[in-house]
Amino acid sequence: MKTITTIDELKKWVREKKHANASIGIVPTMGALHDGHLSLLKKARKENDAVVMSLFVNPAQFGPDEDFDRYPRDFDRDHDLAEAAGADVLFAPSTEEMYPTQSRIAIHAGEQAQVMCGVSRPGHFDGVLKVVTKLFHLTEADRAYFGQKDAQQLAIIEAYVRDYDFPLTIVRGETVREEDGLAKSSRNVYLTETERTEAPHLQKALQLGTALYLDGKDPIPEMTDYIQKYISGKIDYIELHSFPDLHGPITNEAVLAIAVQFGGARLIDNTIFKTKGTN
Ligand code: AMP
Repeated sequence: MKTITTIDELKKWVREKKHANASIGIVPTMGALHDGHLSLLKKARKENDAVVMSLFVNPAQFGPDEDFDRYPRDFDRDHDLAEAAGADVLFAPSTEEMYPTQSRIAIHAGEQAQVMCGVSRPGHFDGVLKVVTKLFHLTEADRAYFGQKDAQQLAIIEAYVRDYDFPLTIVRGETVREEDGLAKSSRNVYLTETERTEAPHLQKALQLGTALYLDGKDPIPEMTDYIQKYISGKIDYIELHSFPDLHGPITNEAVLAIAVQFGGARLIDNTIFKTKGTN
């Protein structure tokens, strides 16, 4: 595996691969890698001739009071995990390399960013679109891999790629969980011991809510009671939307999503399910 830190070197590598007619997959990450990231990487490895994993803690997607400075960073560990999972390139640029000038053009996520995390993290999805635009262009990827763990991000990126004709396919990856059901996240390390024992109740609340919804009931009140009973953190939101539109009536697919603010960690989780037929 090659580590690349500059845009020029990345472009050179991409040109060589394109010249050889190789398909390219990109797995964008902010590092602190876990099995969720690595499952995306392994999927990309199977479906492409060449695979880039990017490792960039993107300042543009953090609010002023968020955890950009203390976000977990461990380059050597990430390097070894990415290599073992089959990446050809680890693209790990500095902030200056990615954003050498103050952008004069802003990209705004639309209506899909008016709900869920978009409410408590204003500008977050604009920052995500900023970085993925650059990564998609720089890698000329045929496929880009994103986890359903960040369902709203996935929905917004899918819409962006479709609306603006990016010549690549967005591939969805299932949420990878700990044995007790907690969704793997780089931010789980912020949890205290007690919070860590409570955190699997996020998924349990989602399972409860899905069953209620499919039974024709409003899942939100019971989920709220459940979370308040088992979790000391504060509910940021519990929302149900049509997926991937995130607005309008629920048709084929729905997302039930939850965000809880613990002492030092804000955790999100969701379930995406078919509203008709099986499930
Ligand atoms: P991050 O480093 O948190 O920006 O995440 C990079 C990618 O990994 C995103 O597409 C996430 O949705 C995905 N991801 C994060 N956690 C998980 C998980 N537990 N299972 C599957 N994918 C995940």
